[in-house]
Amino acid sequence: MPTMPPEAANRPKPKIPHSQDFSDLPKPVVPKTENRKLLKGQKAIVTGASSGIGRSIALALGHAGADVCVNYVAGEDKAQAMVNELRGHGHTAFAYRADVSSEEDVAKMFEAVRDEFGTVDILINNAGLQSDAPVDQMTLTQWNKVIGVNLTGQFLCAREAIREFKRRGVRPEISCCAGKIICISSVHEKIPWAGHVNYAASKGGVMLMMKSIAQEVAPYRIRVNSIAPGAIRTPINMQAWDTPEHYNELLKLIPYKRIGEP
Ligand code: NAD
Repeated sequence: MPTMPPEAANRPKPKIPHSQDFSDLPKPVVPKTENRKLLKGQKAIVTGASSGIGRSIALALGHAGADVCVNYVAGEDKAQAMVNELRGHGHTAFAYRADVSSEEDVAKMFEAVRDEFGTVDILINNAGLQSDAPVDQMTLTQWNKVIGVNLTGQFLCAREAIREFKRRGVRPEISCCAGKIICISSVHEKIPWAGHVNYAASKGGVMLMMKSIAQEVAPYRIRVNSIAPGAIRTPINMQAWDTPEHYNELLKLIPYKRIGEP
């Protein structure tokens, strides 16, 4: 019998502000999927895993049988709560603080994961942020911060992961490939975004970084892919959905007429 993932069943109904009437549209349905342990024995790192999209990915990986390192940069309590939630479902997890834009932090995180889990099979390159300003008012600090986390951070983590995948090679009893990297990009890897030039440039960079790495490491049985989400209701874009006016503005861009839930 298919079962609904526990976090989907228990997820509180989102409070969606409505001043536009979409009541004649069909209600969204959460798919009922069986929790098959397809990733049993695999070890995963999810960067920025204590909130939003990363949090949901970490839970889904846990439900699929992977052991999960919950990376965070601030908010130790939230990261520990996330680990407790995973352990509450019977999954194996631990939290590790590392700034993904720091070469030293990233190297130490991979070392810690090897100590704890023995190896790494899956990297979810998710950590990201925005620091918005009109281009003529954007400071170099704002530019460097966003490029540093969203693009350089993904490169540093991917580089460490590939070093580990190549060192270990394929274990056929665990997976048909030596390792997997999923980069969380954005629709703004392709769609220009006025007022967010640092963010759009970082995601455009992620797109070609991902494709170039994928081309380079495919012969080693390493898979590199990305997901480019549209608007998802998380802290990163709260100003786009926090009032009925903002939300309705956002819906003009979304044919589905609802924001994504992480
Ligand atoms: P979020 O703010 O909930 O999550 C981002 C996470 O990254 C946070 O936990 C934050 O602490 C962490 N982080 C920030 N800087 C870090 C650093 N230096 N080192 C380690 N962790 C760091 O927002 P989200 O929407 O869940 O964002 C996750 C990813 O999804 C981001 O890459 C974002 O660009 C991308 N994305 C989001 C949307 C959306 O609509 N929410 C759309 C497209 C892409």
